[in-house]
Amino acid sequence: MSILVVGSVALDTIETASGRREEVLGGSAMYFSVAASYFDQVFLVGVVGTDFPEEGFHLLERHGVDLDGLQQEQGKTFRWTTRYHLDMNHRDTLDTQLNVFESFSPRIPEKYTTATHLFLANIHPSLQLEVLSQVTDPGIVISDTMNLWIENTPDELEEVIAKTDIFLLSDSEARQWTEEPNLLRAAKQLLRRGPAHLIIKKGEHGALLVNEDGAFFAPGYPLENIVDPTGAGDVFAGGVVGHLSKLNSMEDADLRQAIIYGSTLASFNVESFGLDRLSTLTNEDIEKRYGTFRDLTAFEKN
Ligand code: AMP
Repeated sequence: MSILVVGSVALDTIETASGRREEVLGGSAMYFSVAASYFDQVFLVGVVGTDFPEEGFHLLERHGVDLDGLQQEQGKTFRWTTRYHLDMNHRDTLDTQLNVFESFSPRIPEKYTTATHLFLANIHPSLQLEVLSQVTDPGIVISDTMNLWIENTPDELEEVIAKTDIFLLSDSEARQWTEEPNLLRAAKQLLRRGPAHLIIKKGEHGALLVNEDGAFFAPGYPLENIVDPTGAGDVFAGGVVGHLSKLNSMEDADLRQAIIYGSTLASFNVESFGLDRLSTLTNEDIEKRYGTFRDLTAFEKN
């Protein structure tokens, strides 16, 4: 099966307690694509400027990501600068330069419309809706968002969630959107707006899946050394969607496994700056840590 992703491709400047990196490859679509590429074919729709480094195209090509939908326009690539607090669940955005992203109009190549899964990464909800209007049969739709859109464009976001099968958001975003402090009640409220499944991301504390069958919780993988959490949410989504697309299944047991694959990949991603660790993984690395995850959460006597 195959996955169509629409999102940002960026040059990020990142400061954490471990140091600072300038203009490293990033963006929601970039992180998602590399993560999902370990499972299935990825079609990427996005935009970069003429300054986008060759290394970025090569990295995606090495992972078999189809780039026919990656437009290169006159101007500069989207740039984003962030500084993390000592508690890395919190960060401040210091600068956002939309550049070519400002006038981005997603164009979906014909062959991409055969994708079985559509991931609408965290971009303006009007762009997410534009994509949905271009793909007549989007298959399984998975959408992500952020506080900015909850605050500024709630009506458009409402339209997106109504057309989504699996909606992803963070715990603080779920509370903010529903004005409901209890996460389970917030999740149930959001499920009534359209999606069959809701995944609430809790940063280093894991992720919660809620649907009509009940709830499933996966902890974050305990790590002694977290270098840079940037992209963890997109990488998590890449693991989840990648696994579901590979199996072409939405069964509850497969959704649960997908959450563990997402958490596994996200745990690798935060071990280095940018895409350094994620882009050098082997399938063996992934399976080994997936197994450790099983041991970590086992509590029944054999
Ligand atoms: P995450 O850490 O999962 O929230 O993802 C961070 C990535 O999102 C970075 O690589 C940024 O380049 C990208 N990003 C930050 N702000 C925006 C925005 N307003 N629109 C699209 N992408 C963004």
